[in-house]
Amino acid sequence: MESGYPVRQASVRAHNLALVLRQVAAAPRPPSRADLAASTGLTRATVSALVDDLAAGGLISEVGPAPRTGAGRPAVGLVLNGYGPAGLGLEINVDYLAGCVVDLSGTVRHRLVLHGDQRLLGPAAVLDAVAGLGARLRAEAAAAGRVVAGAALAVPGLVSGAGLVHRAPNLAWHDVDAAVALAGGPLGDLPLTIDNEANLAALAELDADGDGLDSFVYVSGEIGIGAGIVLHRALFRGARGWSGELGHVCVRPDGPPCRCGALGCLEQYAGQEALLRDLPAGETGLARLRDDAALAAGRLPAAGTSLGVALAGVVNMIDVDTVVLGGIFGPLAPWLAPAVEAELARRVLTSAWSPMTVRASALGPAAASVGAAGAVIRDILAEPAEWVRP
Ligand SMILES: [Zn+2]
Repeated sequence: MESGYPVRQASVRAHNLALVLRQVAAAPRPPSRADLAASTGLTRATVSALVDDLAAGGLISEVGPAPRTGAGRPAVGLVLNGYGPAGLGLEINVDYLAGCVVDLSGTVRHRLVLHGDQRLLGPAAVLDAVAGLGARLRAEAAAAGRVVAGAALAVPGLVSGAGLVHRAPNLAWHDVDAAVALAGGPLGDLPLTIDNEANLAALAELDADGDGLDSFVYVSGEIGIGAGIVLHRALFRGARGWSGELGHVCVRPDGPPCRCGALGCLEQYAGQEALLRDLPAGETGLARLRDDAALAAGRLPAAGTSLGVALAGVVNMIDVDTVVLGGIFGPLAPWLAPAVEAELARRVLTSAWSPMTVRASALGPAAASVGAAGAVIRDILAEPAEWVRP
């Protein structure tokens, strides 16, 4: 009993630090210590001690007192510290590498994108390049007075454990241990997690949206098509962490062969390469598709129909009320969404009395790297005690 007491005390403190920090993060305007005592039910003295610890750890800072009417000293407001520990998000995709640094409040402070076909390089060279990009961003952040506390890497494939990429069909990666390959490289000893890009992009969408989204499928349209499934504001990863392979849902059993080995996968009808057939690859072709309404109207509704057919199966099975179109599907949503909506209305059983919402992502192409950086921030906010010395 006696020996367990300090442990319990430490865990109460850790819980209360997280509680106070969560209130500061969620408050619509900077709360005072008194506001925090009221909203947490803790005593003023306890809140003050916790606030001092969080401030000493660099997690929160004070903003000037708002003018007050009435008696008493004006109260100092508390905000998340924009110069506190920051998150580094990195993304490997088939035709680009991206990275960003996000501060504690979720604001993107630094960003880099390198376009180039990653299929032309082996996994080792791609991982080295993305680590180099991360090191550059970390140095930029340091020059601006921010310390990167951790990194997360988004990959377009199936990931397990600490970072074994089992399969990334569009990169032709098989069993690439990305965590091992990155250890000791340009990122040094920075803590690093590795996750699927659509999962991280879905979490970024959730963070960006505030309170509107609850249960949705985020569709990441790139050369591959991934999906991040969010149920009641939590990521649904599946039993082994491999959910969301929307691109390999079959839309025509006798369709063209896919890189995964099956026939008629959605990617063959709505993936970037299918959309840009006979157009220049990458951003140039996409710009042409975006800017030429006749061209878009000629090929995007058919892709939207295939996408809607695949999504209708998902929605019938797992019951979400919103589809968010991300990646290249975001800017193409004016042409894709009507066809997706039509298929959902036709095929989803519940749509007769509860129509689906289909909308473009709020974040655009960098969603996965922002989500990756956000994952680092989320961990810090969830367990601030790690950053605050007793
Ligand atoms: Zn496939």
